[in-house]
Amino acid sequence: MATELAGGKMLLAGEWVEKSDQIEVYNPENNEKIGSVPAGTEEDVKNAISSAKDGAEIAANLSVRERMDILTKAADYIEDHLEDFARTIALEGSKTINEARSETTRAAETIRLSAEEARRLTGESINFDQMPGNTDRMGYYFRFPVGIIAAITPFNDPLNLIAHKIGPGIAAGNAVIIKPATETPLSAVKLAEAFVSAGLPPKVLSVITGRARDIGDVLIESKDVNMISFTGGMETGEKIAKKAGLKRLSMELGSNSPAIVRTDADLHLAAASTVSGAFAAAGQNCLSVQRIYVEEGVYDSFKDLFLQKVKEVKTGNKLSEATDMGPLINEKEAIRVEDWVKEAIDAGALLLAGGNRNGAHYEPTVLEEVPSDATIVTEEVFGPVVLLFNVKNLDEAIERANDVNYGLQAGIFTTNINAALKASRRLHVGGVMINDSSDFRIDAMPFGGVKGSGLGREGVEYTIKEMSEERIVAFKLIDE
Ligand code: NAP
Repeated sequence: MATELAGGKMLLAGEWVEKSDQIEVYNPENNEKIGSVPAGTEEDVKNAISSAKDGAEIAANLSVRERMDILTKAADYIEDHLEDFARTIALEGSKTINEARSETTRAAETIRLSAEEARRLTGESINFDQMPGNTDRMGYYFRFPVGIIAAITPFNDPLNLIAHKIGPGIAAGNAVIIKPATETPLSAVKLAEAFVSAGLPPKVLSVITGRARDIGDVLIESKDVNMISFTGGMETGEKIAKKAGLKRLSMELGSNSPAIVRTDADLHLAAASTVSGAFAAAGQNCLSVQRIYVEEGVYDSFKDLFLQKVKEVKTGNKLSEATDMGPLINEKEAIRVEDWVKEAIDAGALLLAGGNRNGAHYEPTVLEEVPSDATIVTEEVFGPVVLLFNVKNLDEAIERANDVNYGLQAGIFTTNINAALKASRRLHVGGVMINDSSDFRIDAMPFGGVKGSGLGREGVEYTIKEMSEERIVAFKLIDE
């Protein structure tokens, strides 16, 4: 079946712009061309920023009711075109059709939640008289928009991660310029259609497709951009932070998330949950389970259950309803994952499952006895590989879980309340999931990492706070 999707245009301040220089978009499963988008230039970004100056003014002056109506209509549009969005995600990215449907539903929910949270964009009164000499003062703070937000997004959730930036951005009254990943720009362009159809004033949103090497710096370094909201890899995040200068930064970066399995755990639950957390989206998920620390008393029984579950993961064609796990985003990435696994095996690791590659597909892979300095332990694999470690006790598990330069989320499986509480206090991460893997998230919770996993928090209410600033108003009362 021909799979070319509509596209070829980008949204520049409300205008659909075509260009002769196009970036072709391919289905990573078969390298079939599925569409194209304009190769945005520095000039396009400058134009988008210049229009966004007016856009920021227009967005700030939209009443909360108007913002809510636009966001609700955009969410309705996504739901009305759910299958179209899901097919676009599944074709351009590496998700299965079922994963893509679930991402589409979440994106609509993220934007609906943004509409809902817009009404709660409030401040509070301040007791100035808590300090001596201020009994004649009263006042409050309110929140006002930051202005122009540049949002740079990765390939792995090509719709919902953009919804997490446009939704709160508009709810808080900002203009937003999106630069989607070059590998998966079509979902972003479709999301722009939803906002155009919802009646968003033209200059408030631009979706500029193009390669980071051509348009990244001009967007990041512009003095007119007030905030960079970035989701992507740690190295890219560091480069952006260095170039950004004095502006707000939100950094949602990667991880190599740990799970801990205690002797008192429900091992069936732990195995099912960690297998799902490791292989969803073929492991290309910032929350993927990568390292599992199992107490020695249950190591062998957990390993057996885990390997049985791994066998049940159905790999294959992304568009088949029966497939659980699709390919990686491209063959180069699959080769990188293969190389990291080989490096670990050469250093003494044992291969328990998988390890084979076919084009961009890489089998669900399990290793044990991996040396703790192997790249696959210290870095983010961003692929379908999970490592099992046999540890003496909870203290050792926590120490090793923390011994990396990432800290997004962690999971612990235990029925012991003290162990759960101890882990939640000592694991140095942005979220600790008890009896769940690291791969648990709802779009309304504070979400983000520590160390190399990022700065700031997303999750609609929290993003709105990051995308707005407090302004204090203090009245000095004058005797009449
Ligand atoms: P990436 O290579 O860092 O790219 C992300 C985005 O940054 C793309 O739009 C890319 O554009 C752009 N970019 C790359 N270099 C840039 C530069 N020097 N200046 C400005 N922009 C630049 O990440 P990815 O491979 O797409 O995504 C995977 C990473 O994202 C993983 O590390 C994953 O953990 C992380 N992630 C984190 C979260 C979270 O919420 N914490 C969620 C999802 C993913 P081009 O495509 O044009 O190069």
